[in-house]
Amino acid sequence: MSAKFDSSPTLRVLSPEPPLSASPTTRGHPERIVIDDVEKYYGEYRALDSIHLTIEPGQFTVLLGPSGSGKSTLLRCVGGLERIDAGHIRFGDLTVNSAKVHVAPERRNVSMVFQDFALWPHMNIFDNVSFSLHKPGVTKEQRRHAVGEILERVGMADFATRYPSTLSGGQQQRVSLARALVGTPDMILFDEPLSSLDAHLRERLRIEIADLTREAGSSVLYITHDQTEAFALADLIGVLDEGRLIQVATPEEIYHNPATPFVARFTGVAGELDAVIVARAEDRRLLVRGGGGELHTRDATTPTTEARSRVFVRAAPLRITAPAVDHFALDHREHLGEHRRDHARLRGRVVDVAFRGRGYEHVIELDGGDRLIGIFSEDRWNRHENITLHVPGDACIAFARE
Ligand code: ADP
Repeated sequence: MSAKFDSSPTLRVLSPEPPLSASPTTRGHPERIVIDDVEKYYGEYRALDSIHLTIEPGQFTVLLGPSGSGKSTLLRCVGGLERIDAGHIRFGDLTVNSAKVHVAPERRNVSMVFQDFALWPHMNIFDNVSFSLHKPGVTKEQRRHAVGEILERVGMADFATRYPSTLSGGQQQRVSLARALVGTPDMILFDEPLSSLDAHLRERLRIEIADLTREAGSSVLYITHDQTEAFALADLIGVLDEGRLIQVATPEEIYHNPATPFVARFTGVAGELDAVIVARAEDRRLLVRGGGGELHTRDATTPTTEARSRVFVRAAPLRITAPAVDHFALDHREHLGEHRRDHARLRGRVVDVAFRGRGYEHVIELDGGDRLIGIFSEDRWNRHENITLHVPGDACIAFARE
């Protein structure tokens, strides 16, 4: 991914006409970016297949997908580091990519943050960050002020005279972030910027990226293969698979209504259950038999007459309790009316428990043999313990069996 970028400093994308007062507190004026039916080939291989995506001004868009799905390629096309074979990319009214047009990266007022930081080793931190402000119309004093302000903002003000090799990974990435933000770009492209950092730093820097880019008002295109990172950062997520954009939606929509089994799996499921449809209700709701009991689920597919389906279960809404005395499969029965109508109870047994600080994550084997993982509870349920698993209908989504 980022290794394929030419990370040489000359790639740093600069604004051809910087704002006179180039200050991090100056907000950018991003325009709508439209990616329209874009195709990109490497030889015979189609790396991008009919991509449509609109990035609204100031929007934080995350491209999520496994390795090799085309995330970097799309990012590089938007940044002007790759040409495209068909379709258009427009920044406002200006076409920057088409089969015939290719606007050079340095003319796009776009900046980039790479996985491997890509700082100039022979320059100190101040010079690294101020580089993009060395252009007509920006005085030395304005540069000094802008760099001082942004270094302060990313917590690196005390490091201005240090060299990159003397900084930790997290510190170097903060400097990269400062460098990307200082010229108030219309758009910032992030290529897996957190993946070479440890978990604790990742979370802190993620918050800073979210905060600083929104404060700057820049549009963002950010790529990652990590769904938790995507969910945490994005206004809009585009899920890529084999060069195709499978779904573009808010994190909430993707979580609740994944468009395909691939999207469901890639955004985290506790497990999958083979199920037989017992009844169909309105609003594309199904009652199915599976997981050793009966449960409600949404139907993701156009209703078919298929009797069988595959139910994907999200972990977060699941709850564990002690085994129910009267173990009704579904608590829409009268005497369980205090619960939600579509709330199922399945019998199971704990097969693994892991302490996670705030509580415990469990692996449950259901009657019938299916396993569900990542089920959180503040209480510890011990291995081999029999339990009841509470499965609300909104934890489940059914697809036609593949
Ligand atoms: P991702 O960023 O999602 O990991 P990439 O955009 O890097 O995916 O790659 C998408 C596909 O295009 C992969 O199969 C990759 O091998 C191929 N690819 C990427 N860059 C090149 C290149 N310069 N030449 C040939 N194939 C490439």
